[in-house]
Amino acid sequence: MALPRTASVVIIGGGVVGCSIAYHLARRGQRDVVVLERETVGSGTTSKAAGGIRAQFPTETEVRFSLEAIGVFERFEEEFGVDIGYRKIGYLFLVSDEEDLRGFRERMALQRRLGVDVREISPAEAKAIVPALRVDDLVAAVWGPSDAMAGPAEVTNGFARRARELGAKIAEGVDVTAIPVEHGRVAGVATTDGAIATPLVINAAGPAGAAVGRLAGVKLAVQPRRRHIFYTEPFPEIPGPVPLTTDRASGFYFRKEMEQLLLSPGDVEDIGEDFSVPVDRARIDETVEKALHRIPIVEKARIAGGWAGLRPLTPDDHAIIGWAPGVEGFFVAVGFGGHGFQHSPATGRYVGEWLLDGKPSLDLSLFDPGRFARGAAVHHDKGPDAE
Ligand SMILES: Cc1cc2nc3c(=O)[nH]c(=O)nc-3n(C[C@H](O)[C@H](O)[C@H](O)COP(=O)(O)OP(=O)(O)OC[C@H]3O[C@@H](n4cnc5c(N)ncnc54)[C@H](O)[C@@H]3O)c2cc1C
Repeated sequence: MALPRTASVVIIGGGVVGCSIAYHLARRGQRDVVVLERETVGSGTTSKAAGGIRAQFPTETEVRFSLEAIGVFERFEEEFGVDIGYRKIGYLFLVSDEEDLRGFRERMALQRRLGVDVREISPAEAKAIVPALRVDDLVAAVWGPSDAMAGPAEVTNGFARRARELGAKIAEGVDVTAIPVEHGRVAGVATTDGAIATPLVINAAGPAGAAVGRLAGVKLAVQPRRRHIFYTEPFPEIPGPVPLTTDRASGFYFRKEMEQLLLSPGDVEDIGEDFSVPVDRARIDETVEKALHRIPIVEKARIAGGWAGLRPLTPDDHAIIGWAPGVEGFFVAVGFGGHGFQHSPATGRYVGEWLLDGKPSLDLSLFDPGRFARGAAVHHDKGPDAE
């Protein structure tokens, strides 16, 4: 596809976030929307996500993002004609520390006020949900039965396909190499396929969010951190469905994927900007050790494979959404950490409102791109670092 020479808006990044924004803009009637993706749609960190969807977040804004997402995912097949494998498997947090439990209770009060079905249960009740669990060292568990999972690739392709049907152009294999800024305003983008003049550039580059920010001279606090997921051979000893179950003491989490178990050590590792994200085989031993402690029957399972991906974290664990300070026409939607897949529908909707109506219908000041430079970031007890 030949690139257009002009666009009303250029979105850098064809991950779940960029595709959702493109869809929402196109749906609202915005013409000449162009998405530039250096590889293929959904091949970035979106392809590494575990597909988890939870309403258990520490702030009202993020809980509202989740509730919006759950509504969209529930209707996705109807609206987009794509089966995304949406299933309410629930999220189960295993808590072994009283202070941690106090944090959960505070967050649960907020979540319940906003209508989320989430409750504290006893270790024995947790074992009734997942009989394979070892629970003798737990003080409690937190159960969100409405939390769910779905396929990130299916959701991304659903957004991308409908965005294209509505007139957006999505170009793959096109790397944005420069963002010229003239008199404090974005003038366009330079790419490996030529330049596009545009008054509006959206940075939806996921783990490359800081690098793309630098192209426009904007500093963004996106810190990609590696996380692994391993999977077993079919393991009928733990029958499904199994909620996404997180051991708070070790960070280990697991769930069932078809007949296999997915297992993650919950690692958070700085590997610089190595976007090839190699698998560190030493993490297998760590994963197995944590798994054996929590689900001893896993001793009978065999690891069949695994992958690693980058979680685009920020210093306060909240995303960065809004106009970039200092450069007019440069909008940012990055830093989604371990929850960018599940927050993509709400991100697309509110970014669309912001750009087309002048402001979003929900207060998004939590995500203000200027908060770190101003020293105004709010460090909430971040709660579950679940995915
Ligand atoms: C192991 C793991 C498990 C996870 N589990 C979950 C989960 O259960 N639930 C959940 O909600 N989230 C989960 N996440 C987080 C989730 O994957 C991310 O937050 C989300 O995918 C971010 O989407 P994105 O569109 O911002 O980024 P990406 O998917 O990375 O998209 C950005 C795109 O920009 C492109 N790009 C970058 N630079 C340029 C450039 N210069 N020019 C052109 N294109 C460019 C890249 O190629 C990429 O495709 C998980 C992440 C990991 C690593």
